Amino acid sequence: MKLTTLGCHSASPREKARTTAQLLEMRGHLFLIDCGEGTQMALRQSSTKFARIKHIFISHLHGDHFYGLAGLISTFQLQGREAELHIHAPKGAKEAMLLLLKVSGAHMVFPLHFHELESQESEVIFEDDKLSVTTIPLDHRIYANGFFFKEKNKERKLNVDAVQTLGIDVCYYQNIKNGKDVILDSGERIPNEMLSFPPAPPKSYAFCSDTLYHPEIVPIIKGVQVLYHESTFLEDNRALAERTKHSTALQAAQIAKAAEAQTLILGHYSSRYKDKRVFQDEAKTLFTNTLLSEDGKEFNFE
Ligand SMILES: [Zn+2]
Ligand SMILES: [Zn+2]
Repeated sequence: MKLTTLGCHSASPREKARTTAQLLEMRGHLFLIDCGEGTQMALRQSSTKFARIKHIFISHLHGDHFYGLAGLISTFQLQGREAELHIHAPKGAKEAMLLLLKVSGAHMVFPLHFHELESQESEVIFEDDKLSVTTIPLDHRIYANGFFFKEKNKERKLNVDAVQTLGIDVCYYQNIKNGKDVILDSGERIPNEMLSFPPAPPKSYAFCSDTLYHPEIVPIIKGVQVLYHESTFLEDNRALAERTKHSTALQAAQIAKAAEAQTLILGHYSSRYKDKRVFQDEAKTLFTNTLLSEDGKEFNFE
């Protein structure tokens, strides 16, 4: 699982500060999460093949998470994209995008599918045989969701030495990977644990975009491997965080601790803080394994 934080600042893009966008590589998928202004430049800097992005997830329709989408779709058009594109975004995104495309005289050359979100409850919005994506309802000034990306259980790993030593026929291998015992022609039962190893635990990533401190999300993301949680402010601006429906670094740490996350990544920094390390320092008072997102930074999680 690889995460690239293409942009990690709040409000407006600046000379050296991009607004929110992330790329998540998981089980062969390349998901774009949020698309602030300038995202396509960041994608080019990270040498991303645009056609590999088939799903875009937008947390909410504030400009710093959404205004890069029209430009990106336009570039896909200019590139002669043929691959389908699925956009999972709050209701209103489709109307906004189609109007922009219409007034700019764009003729769609690739299949563009909108999946508009309006539920107040957590729901599965994408699923295949390898993973699922679930919404995380947030509490922000407008309708907003985070997204929980979770791998499904993998197959067990075949113990090649054991199956060869016992002379187990190849036709049993898939059943063994599925966790079944093998019953030989003689009637003898070979327990699965002798023939296979447990799979690696499923990876998971929760993206918690702009939100007031909202402990209601904890049951949804319980046990998450990697949690991104916004930390626009520090505790010194707690009142401002509440007024603007954002979180502090300490509150992000509280969510990470309550959710028993393994790793916390902070982001969506307010420009009033000149040094990002203050966010990490505050969160670490409660949650040690706290990392800082930076524009263009890659994280690899095994
Ligand atoms: Zn924002
Ligand atoms: Zn916002």
